[in-house]
Amino acid sequence: MKVIVAGASISGLFTAYLLAKEGVEVEVYEKETLLGQPSRTLIVTNELKHVLGFIPEGTILNEVRYLELFSKSKSARLVLKDPDLVIEREKMVNSLTRLAREAGAKVILKHHCEGFDLFGKKVVVRLRNLETNQEIRTSADILVGADGTRSKVTLAASRNGHLLAALLQARVRLPEDGKQDTVQVWFNSDRTKYFYWLIPESDRTAAVGLVADDARQAEACLTEFLQSKDLEPFEFQSALVPMHRFGYGGDVLSEGRNVFAVGDAAAQVKVTTVGGVVTGLHGARALADAILNGRNYPRALRELKIEMNLHLLIRQILNRFNGEDYDQLIGMVNGELRGILEEWNRDELKQSFLRLIWTEPRLIKLGAKALLKSFL
Ligand SMILES: Cc1cc2nc3c(=O)[nH]c(=O)nc-3n(C[C@H](O)[C@H](O)[C@H](O)COP(=O)(O)OP(=O)(O)OC[C@H]3O[C@@H](n4cnc5c(N)ncnc54)[C@H](O)[C@@H]3O)c2cc1C
Repeated sequence: MKVIVAGASISGLFTAYLLAKEGVEVEVYEKETLLGQPSRTLIVTNELKHVLGFIPEGTILNEVRYLELFSKSKSARLVLKDPDLVIEREKMVNSLTRLAREAGAKVILKHHCEGFDLFGKKVVVRLRNLETNQEIRTSADILVGADGTRSKVTLAASRNGHLLAALLQARVRLPEDGKQDTVQVWFNSDRTKYFYWLIPESDRTAAVGLVADDARQAEACLTEFLQSKDLEPFEFQSALVPMHRFGYGGDVLSEGRNVFAVGDAAAQVKVTTVGGVVTGLHGARALADAILNGRNYPRALRELKIEMNLHLLIRQILNRFNGEDYDQLIGMVNGELRGILEEWNRDELKQSFLRLIWTEPRLIKLGAKALLKSFL
């Protein structure tokens, strides 16, 4: 069996590695000249270790044990049972590439995937060699679109594009009141329905950023935020990230079940925090398992979909929160919710969701009030 993967980033390379180590012939095509570009500071939960089964060498920049949350007039500090991991995308991609290549996968740079055609049970992938501008057609049994937010594989299957959010962050010197072991999150619903963050990379530098509806709003808000904190950026990192939707079925892209999407290409993103690293890796594991064992990919994704749907439910409520709602929420975090939020991480919402509601029934009232307000 031959599998072609479009996109050599976290989700595509992990899929390639899992398949190649079981003896599948795998070719990964990446449009960029260098792997892991552009570089990006990412924060993930300890779930990274579980889904990968290992930690790629040299990828962890920092570990953070404390999470500080700020609303208009309240704050809370959580002690995480398992520290969050701050990782660097370029290092992670290089490490996964090494593993995929050692397992036998070919990773080929400077090749742009432009689409595909179906011939019987085969997929003919259209690629462009970006050095020679020559078009190449190569056939495979399976095509995996791991080519990110604006996936050509997904578009070639006549799927509409994804709903998008804009992520923008600046690298800065760690402020004097910042701590290497503490992530800070600010909710300011007048500026963004999402949030701002400061992620320490070390005792010297940090990534400060936000999620917004579009790139222009993100830029205006970040500029204002950096000025208010007297922070001088020395690098910017930005991109659009897809948002998971209820009932989204863009994981299988052909009737013959031989073209699939994974990671950002399939909008496998937790939309509360707009984090797609761990969910994309879960997607990769589910897809590799489905290909290797002849299982149904959507069925293999069921657990991940439940997790992502719960995040989406919460996001839809948070999108309607105002400053007072966030004050109330942080008040509850300081009360009954603290223990659960410290124990269960944000990739374990399936396990913690009912516990949260059971422990703090006022959450239902707060959510219902926010929904009602938006209808009125
Ligand atoms: C500023 C910023 C901060 C973020 N912070 C976090 C965070 O803290 N935690 C978290 O979990 N997530 C975070 N995210 C989201 C996270 O980065 C993505 O969800 C994740 O990296 C998606 O990985 P992927 O492999 O699916 O896709 P991508 O990383 O987008 O990879 C797609 C790959 O495909 C290649 N490609 C694209 N088109 C083609 C084509 N036509 N042919 C060939 N190759 C192609 C691209 O060059 C790229 O290498 C952040 C995103 C941004 C922008």
